[in-house]
Amino acid sequence: MISFIGAGPGDPELLTLKGKRLIDGADIIIYAGSLVNPEVLAGAKPGAVILNSALMDLDQVIEAMRIGEAEGRKVVRVHTGDPSVYGAHREQMDRLEQMGIEYEVVPGVSSFLATAAVLKKEYTLPDVSQTVILTRMEGRTPMPPKENLRDLASHNCTMIIFLSVGFMDEMSETLIGGGYRPDTPVAVVYKATWPDQRIIRGTLSDIADRVREAGIKKTALTVVGDFLGSEYSLSKLYDKTFTTEFRKGTEDA
Ligand code: SAH
Repeated sequence: MISFIGAGPGDPELLTLKGKRLIDGADIIIYAGSLVNPEVLAGAKPGAVILNSALMDLDQVIEAMRIGEAEGRKVVRVHTGDPSVYGAHREQMDRLEQMGIEYEVVPGVSSFLATAAVLKKEYTLPDVSQTVILTRMEGRTPMPPKENLRDLASHNCTMIIFLSVGFMDEMSETLIGGGYRPDTPVAVVYKATWPDQRIIRGTLSDIADRVREAGIKKTALTVVGDFLGSEYSLSKLYDKTFTTEFRKGTEDA
């Protein structure tokens, strides 16, 4: 049984207990060396073989899994954040399925969740935004035509943009062109939860300059929307007058 494991955003304590147990017991660890904090592997067995998938193509990754499995060794595949978000995960699962190799998936804390935590913000504020879009800019990997950033921007909801901090000028222009106010707040979080984490705040009109000045070129998320501001309605869930399944509100008393 191959275990795919979400390693979390960086801080090794943000690994699930299950993920840690599997990593610590593994004979072969294939990890995304460009983004996974090596500290996540600190508990690996002394004899464990550690392979960096940044240096491998899909065939090589699958071959390493196949051989390990055939030799009866425990193989884990460690992805950054959660494997379901820009993890190139599906193609590996499908290849294992074709070969009849069993696997399981252990989720992780995605960087977008760690980003809300370090910003101390909530993405879904009542009357501000109840929708979160996770997306990316069109870089070397094309975007499906119906998902261009300009169209997505028209909703003015909370938006989280992966893999795109190198294109800040184009990103902010497109978002404004798509309908966000130029003074919409933006935060760029570099290496959320790592020791060298940095947070750059601004608005759509000045964030590109601020990020350039900070020299941030990769491993950052851009989050956009009025959820970063200070105006919102209080939730109904904890409203004194609102009756819920668990609590009778004063209005109905
Ligand atoms: N599966 C990962 C995302 C992989 S794509 C997850 O769930 O987080 C890689 C991109 O994720 C990076 O280019 C960056 O945009 C973002 N990213 C990953 N780790 C990050 C971190 N600690 N802080 C900020 N952004 C991060």
